[in-house]
Amino acid sequence: MEKEDRIKYLVDILNKYAFHYYTLDDPLIEDSEYDVLYDELVNLEKETGIILPNSPTNRIGGEVLSGFEKHVHLNTLYSLGKAQSKEEVRNWVNKTIEFVENYNENHVNKLPKVEFYVEFKFDGLTVNLTYDGGYLVMATTRGNGTIGEVITSQVKTINSIPLKIKDTRLMEIQGEGVMPLSSLEKYNQTHEPKLKNARNAAAGALRNLDPAVTRDRNLDAYFYNVNYLQDNELETQEEMMKFLGDNYFKLYPYEKHATSFEEISGFIDEIFELRNEIDVLTDGVVIKVNDFKTREKLGYTNKFPRWAIAYKFEPERFTTIVKEVEWNVGRTGKVTPTALLEPVEIGNVTVKRATLNNIDDIERKQVRLNSEVFIRRSNDVIPEIMGVVNPEQEDTKEIEIPHYCPYCHSELFRDGVHIFCPNSMSCTPQLVKRMVHFASRNAMNIDGLSEKTLEVLLEKLNITSIEEIYDVKKEQLMQLEGFKEKKSQNLINAIEKSKNVDLANFIFALGIPEIGEKTSFELAQKYKSFDNLREAKFEELIQIEDIGNVIAEEIVEFFHDETISHSIDSLLSKGINIKNPESIEKKLDNLTFVLTGSLVNYSRKELTDKLSNLGAKVSSSVSKNTDYVVYGEKAGSKLTKAKDLGVKLMTEDELNSFLDNL
Ligand code: NAD
Repeated sequence: MEKEDRIKYLVDILNKYAFHYYTLDDPLIEDSEYDVLYDELVNLEKETGIILPNSPTNRIGGEVLSGFEKHVHLNTLYSLGKAQSKEEVRNWVNKTIEFVENYNENHVNKLPKVEFYVEFKFDGLTVNLTYDGGYLVMATTRGNGTIGEVITSQVKTINSIPLKIKDTRLMEIQGEGVMPLSSLEKYNQTHEPKLKNARNAAAGALRNLDPAVTRDRNLDAYFYNVNYLQDNELETQEEMMKFLGDNYFKLYPYEKHATSFEEISGFIDEIFELRNEIDVLTDGVVIKVNDFKTREKLGYTNKFPRWAIAYKFEPERFTTIVKEVEWNVGRTGKVTPTALLEPVEIGNVTVKRATLNNIDDIERKQVRLNSEVFIRRSNDVIPEIMGVVNPEQEDTKEIEIPHYCPYCHSELFRDGVHIFCPNSMSCTPQLVKRMVHFASRNAMNIDGLSEKTLEVLLEKLNITSIEEIYDVKKEQLMQLEGFKEKKSQNLINAIEKSKNVDLANFIFALGIPEIGEKTSFELAQKYKSFDNLREAKFEELIQIEDIGNVIAEEIVEFFHDETISHSIDSLLSKGINIKNPESIEKKLDNLTFVLTGSLVNYSRKELTDKLSNLGAKVSSSVSKNTDYVVYGEKAGSKLTKAKDLGVKLMTEDELNSFLDNL
């Protein structure tokens, strides 16, 4: 390919990847793969002098999403120049020292001896906070460096961000919004689909129009820059960090000074080791010149400051062999490939399986049976195949894309990059997963119907549809392995109890595509009865806050599908008693609740709505009139006050059993 064509190709493909990364928060490729292509483009542009107007080397960050209000930053928010190797760091250090020496030879007012400041590079989303008069007045994303998206309410869900600071001057403070790895793990225990990576989880949560989604992810933020300060008197990074600390910003307590490459190199090695021990995703090290006057003289390119550089860690890669590919069917019928690997030790775990995502992924990464592949686990929750070691490897075999469902043998169909099994009625794994969903706590809440139990019931009792759960007899259960009298009776009781269900939970239990708990709740509030909802019109549905055209259409189609309608009728005929929002007794009348700390199973709004529906008053402050304080993790002064006043305390679990027993 001619160099010019290659440049054009790289610009197009990098722009596509950047759009998925920055705008959709759903990258198509690994950062390291992106960086290799980006570096190739930078080199070709240098070599040929051709820089296309839409080259990603011209711009900072991504597009500004139209759903958000815009904010023009008081100062540009730059990206960082990258070093892929220590050699590149050494060159940058030498160049910087040389620059200062040259400057000092030619100027009377000398710059100080160069001192560097070494910090963790956390991988999340830049947040830019505007304070005026001591108050947080706005929070934005970096956007394209000049204009950011306003995410004030989302950022306010981060408890560690100060809403009020000491200094009253106008200023903009920059930091990184992150999803701690512990929050990611906890979130994934209770949510589907699971989030794969903490960076995209944080970015997706902050660039989300619904602050309840942000709150649900329990984000945190670390600060490292005063990007604008009225009458700025700060002279060094050191002073700046002190200023941030004095004004209650959360700083990461690792700040190292260095005057030589050797020292920096030692800190890079240290951070490389430490990064596995801390709760925040780290993708490298940032090295900055400490003195601000020197920074000013070094200046900026159109994309990054010359006074700082990011050393990015190579993702830890391991190689192994793909032995087989297994195709699994999910609740919605999506058939996804999982690679079965020759076991490999990564950290303390033995990895035997890795996701291949979809057909497109297999083709793009050129993965075949017996291929030697790179996999990475470290910070990602689900190990992923990054690519093959050698696309030319000889002894490999093509991965066969199934035409028929591996379980029920129905003919599969393709929609975009995914394949689906159309047999939603009797394809066993789909049915098991749908039943797990149906029985889950916030749906029909049938205690004891785990995936394992359901698999047994389906196999031994020949159950072929959800509603047949309600026909199961105790005697049948007692014939199953592991089911004695008590366990069988408990399950029968739980099934019976589930027949009395709130409308919102019933809607959620049906598993309508794209309809989560929150939308189910909103549908229940709007339609008041299940019969009304079944007749819902597209035009009405799109009036609901979270429902757009696609989801509205899905809902209408769902209720008009003949087979589905039939199943629902048959389910209702089992004696399901749906409690409409109004008919729910106000059992918590006259009780006042206060919620504090981070909750796991509900967003604040969901729980507030739930309690209010039951007649409770949910207040924001604790007093002697408060009846209950429900507390989650990181609960602070409200919990202390409640203890002082002797108010009854409840964890989220205790609240759940309290509500179950109403
Ligand atoms: P970057 O994320 O690599 O570095 C700049 C950012 O680092 C800053 O905006 C800031 O948010 C953050 N940061 C963290 N700690 C910091 C500290 N102590 N001091 C200063 N900044 C700190 O650069 P970028 O311009 O945001 O993104 C470029 C990178 O994004 C690429 O290197 C690539 O890896 C990735 N990317 C990936 C894809 C993909 O498809 N996978 C696409 C586009 C970009």
